[in-house]
Amino acid sequence: MITLFDSAKKQKLPFVPLVENKVRLYVCGPTVYDDAHLGHARSSIAFDLWRRLFLFLDFEVLFVKNFTDIDDKIIKKSLQSGINVKELSEKYINLYLQDMDALLVLRADIEPKATDNLPQICQMIESLLQKGYAYKGENSDIYLSIHKDTRYGALSHRSEDTQNQSRIQNAQDKLESNDFALWKGYKGAQDIAYESTFGKGRPGWHIECSAMIEEHLAYKDKPYAIDIHAGGADLLFPHHENEASQTRCATGRELAKYWLHNGFVNINGEKMSKSLGNSFFIKDALQSYDGEILRNYLLGVHYRLALNFNEEDLLQSKKRLDKIYRLKKRILPSNDMPDSTAHNDLTYLNMLKNIAKNAQQDFKNELLLALSDDYNISKALSIIEDMLARSNEILDKNPKDKAQKQTIRANLACVEYLLGLGGKEAQSYFQLGLSQEKKQYIQAQILKRIEAKKAKDYALADSIRDSLKQEGIEIMDTPSGTTWEKI
Ligand SMILES: [Zn+2]
Repeated sequence: MITLFDSAKKQKLPFVPLVENKVRLYVCGPTVYDDAHLGHARSSIAFDLWRRLFLFLDFEVLFVKNFTDIDDKIIKKSLQSGINVKELSEKYINLYLQDMDALLVLRADIEPKATDNLPQICQMIESLLQKGYAYKGENSDIYLSIHKDTRYGALSHRSEDTQNQSRIQNAQDKLESNDFALWKGYKGAQDIAYESTFGKGRPGWHIECSAMIEEHLAYKDKPYAIDIHAGGADLLFPHHENEASQTRCATGRELAKYWLHNGFVNINGEKMSKSLGNSFFIKDALQSYDGEILRNYLLGVHYRLALNFNEEDLLQSKKRLDKIYRLKKRILPSNDMPDSTAHNDLTYLNMLKNIAKNAQQDFKNELLLALSDDYNISKALSIIEDMLARSNEILDKNPKDKAQKQTIRANLACVEYLLGLGGKEAQSYFQLGLSQEKKQYIQAQILKRIEAKKAKDYALADSIRDSLKQEGIEIMDTPSGTTWEKI
């Protein structure tokens, strides 16, 4: 049984899907006006892990993540940069997807964009107007009247937004200061607008998620539209509260049975944010670290806790990944498993699942038990550490035991499926971050050393090995030839 911490009820609950063996999961995606930062990385990885767990447990998962491609921030950036809104949002969608690929986050089943779902958005607003939950302000914006929704605040246990200045500034146009915009009326030449039955304008941010869920994911015959709605903790209020309210008022159903929220990323003890100027772009981190190394670090802290980003911890956590690959290298000296960076998709996962069938039962059960307990990652990681240590002991005693190697390989397939770690060809993992020229140079030095040994010039052979070591390269002689690692 899976338990998960529901943000609305503030407790761990058993997961009972709306339809047996199926999970419908929605995650709020990015507003695409800039490069993705570590907060995006963490949120994406957190729910990628949940998705992988459900899939591993044979749930049929439908996973939707949206792109907000029309918004005040996008329009502002478009005016600043002179690039039109469409081009700008396309550019950042592509960059976001590239970053997520590097982090080995599986692509969502459906990735809807707000501008592709305007009829659905307008239809929901129309219905809210007709039912009397929404009204048009003097500035042509359309607002949801939150006092008409008696359950407003049930999700976040808040109903006042004292932080948002623009909501307070626009208060004169609303009946109540906390009413929020469903539709923003056309404001003139520098604005972007679409036609609708209730006037020219563009959707507010919150409405798009409700409308896209209704269109792409929702059950129409259940008390809840979907099983799980997820996103960063910063979205709980007002974004998710407003989403929940719109869906409730428009459809008579609750939006999600469970709400999951991931913790913040802090940098130097402060919450990471653009306004504080300490926002850390994924693309910058990827300059220094491979995406898998970054992923391994970000997933190591429980998804609900804040993560204090620092490079010391990152390097410390890399040792875990090194251990996985060191074991993989012992059982798979040659490249007989495809490199997951080229096959990070559901077909590849199915292939892994087949291999994982032969995993050691105790190990698999313990691992799944830990992860099924609200994704208890620290417990899962210590179970994996134990498996790695045990496997190495087994191989020390019987380095050629084929059956044991098969089991170890199956154990590693479980880890790769569930955590998305260990998918590279082992040799290439230990050579990450070196240029092609450097690799060619090392290869040439190794050949020189082989020649020296053949000529019985052991002094030269040793000096080549020593000088490579000084450059941070360790060479190892194995029965199948000489290999090397970046230390
Ligand atoms: Zn959303």
